[in-house]
Amino acid sequence: MPSSLSSRHFCSSKSVRMCVGCRKRFLQPELLRLAVLDSSVVAFGGVGRSFYFCKECLTSEKVILKALARYKSLTDKPKNLQEIQEIAKEWKK
Ligand SMILES: [Zn+2]
Repeated sequence: MPSSLSSRHFCSSKSVRMCVGCRKRFLQPELLRLAVLDSSVVAFGGVGRSFYFCKECLTSEKVILKALARYKSLTDKPKNLQEIQEIAKEWKK
């Protein structure tokens, strides 16, 4: 790590991210990280524009659809909702 990064004040293992559904902040392990890839939503794997959902929001279709509305490349929201629900199901196991 270059010393120029030493001014960061938090340890990265405690990094806090915002859920795009409720806009509350959570520790990263409590959130499901997803990414927009072309016109699909996928589990984040290093590429794409990533975003996070908390467990609570993943149970509400209304909340998910509202959060997806701001991603213009997602043109088939019912399909994207299904993709997210599939990933969430795997995640909770
Ligand atoms: Zn949330």
